[in-house]
Amino acid sequence: MEIPRVKMPEQDPTERIHNFREVPCGLNEEQAMLEAARCIECKKQPCVSGCPVEVDIPGFIKLILDKDFAGAARKIKETNALPAVCGRVCPQEEQCEMLCTLGKKFKPVAIGYLERFVADYERENNLVQAPKVAPATGKKVAIVGSGPAGLTVAGDLIKLGHKVTIFEALHKPGGVLVYGIPEFRLPKKIVQAECDAMADTGVEFENSTVIGKMDTIDELFEQGFDAVFIGTGAGLPNFMGIPGENLIGVYSSNEYLTRSNLMRAYDFPNNDTPIIHGKNVAVLGGGNTAMDSVRTSLRLGADNAYIVYRRSEAEMPARIEEVHHARQEGVQFHLLTTPIRFIGDDQGKVKAMELLKMELGEPDASGRRRPVPIEGSNYIMDVDLVVVAIGNSSNPLIPRTTPGLDVNRWGNITVNEETMETSRPGVFAGGDIVTGGATVILAAGAGKKAARAIHKYIMEKK
Ligand SMILES: Cc1cc2nc3c(=O)[nH]c(=O)nc-3n(C[C@H](O)[C@H](O)[C@H](O)COP(=O)(O)OP(=O)(O)OC[C@H]3O[C@@H](n4cnc5c(N)ncnc54)[C@H](O)[C@@H]3O)c2cc1C
Ligand code: SF4
Repeated sequence: MEIPRVKMPEQDPTERIHNFREVPCGLNEEQAMLEAARCIECKKQPCVSGCPVEVDIPGFIKLILDKDFAGAARKIKETNALPAVCGRVCPQEEQCEMLCTLGKKFKPVAIGYLERFVADYERENNLVQAPKVAPATGKKVAIVGSGPAGLTVAGDLIKLGHKVTIFEALHKPGGVLVYGIPEFRLPKKIVQAECDAMADTGVEFENSTVIGKMDTIDELFEQGFDAVFIGTGAGLPNFMGIPGENLIGVYSSNEYLTRSNLMRAYDFPNNDTPIIHGKNVAVLGGGNTAMDSVRTSLRLGADNAYIVYRRSEAEMPARIEEVHHARQEGVQFHLLTTPIRFIGDDQGKVKAMELLKMELGEPDASGRRRPVPIEGSNYIMDVDLVVVAIGNSSNPLIPRTTPGLDVNRWGNITVNEETMETSRPGVFAGGDIVTGGATVILAAGAGKKAARAIHKYIMEKK
């Protein structure tokens, strides 16, 4: 008879909207072993082909059954350097778990929960082992950006004996993992632990350093770096381009989340970073960023928190779990709806917005059904804070200051997909700066590919 899939305990929704503590509480040993026992160790291992970095999923699950939890974490780390992060934020339901054989008849094995469990066990019990580092090669690599792409490249190259320096524009490393994803989904201490472990193995972090402004890529070569990896992400917020977007109280999701997460506005009054605490908050968009923003607004005191999304729930790009959590917390969804203007008061502060209802037409280039406006369906919503979370583009700073670096029409750096090498010899790139906004695991996967190619390049370079 089938063992039911384990349910991860969570903070009660009525309680958690008043704090920033993590929502899912993790599994205990007994729950993890029971869940691991559900895996039938398929010969073909379809789950592995669903994982962008091909983690040996049945292999690590077997180690859980043997009660070797730290061994299981190390098994994952053979191909994925960030299991505590990925166990929390990967869209497993569309990757490994979607292909799990058990899912055909029953519920798939909770692979993400197990990944999180072993990574937390290893860290919390101080069982993380420093990686073996090869003898020094004398080669130096500069990494620009400390998100999952840059961190993965750094972790792989330091093990091969190269000297690695990460240049980060913000005052803390981690990229979106720290400035975007809120504490209630990914505690900062987990990312910090990964960065600290890297620093212990010799990776140097130069924070508050904007490459392209302080030093250019060419200047990094002049300083003696043998190769450069660009992992600068897609951090330039998109706006709707509608009237009233400059009103006070209309934030980009980047600014809103950065103020809350990285500048710790969430920890008031211990930190008094200015942030608008709206009572009626509308977040525009349907991705993870939108869910993170709307759930943050509740925790910062909103009475009404709305998601306004122009398509239906089926087309929402956010992880299903995050939409579910937002609904549980009382977020109100205005689907098939788009704003057409923001309305200000006499002090230039946003006080309302005008919305238009939509219906779904034929699929567009993205394969999703195109939203079509319904004439005359306009209505007004009272709001005192709006967060625009409709995606990000790549920051043009590095392409503009690096002659000969090719980008596509969206400003993303173009690379040879096998090696992640750009049009400039010795310059590699990966993560969101190449793909546009994607996922943590894809950024980490690109970092792995780039690290292999950078190693080959610098070792063969005369
Ligand atoms: C709010 C939010 C929630 C998300 N939720 C999820 C999720 O649940 N699951 C998931 O898989 N993905 C999620 N994503 C997407 C995921 O976080 C990204 O795909 C991933 O972080 C990209 O990694 P990266 O290394 O390419 O870039 P980033 O994480 O963006 O890191 C880039 C770093 O480069 C730095 N930088 C930029 N320009 C310069 C410069 N000129 N000099 C020096 N440093 C520079 C930036 O400050 C930043 O720290 C989310 C994204 C956001 C914004
Ligand atoms: S597909 Fe599911 S049941 Fe089969 S090996 Fe992978 S996790 Fe186990």
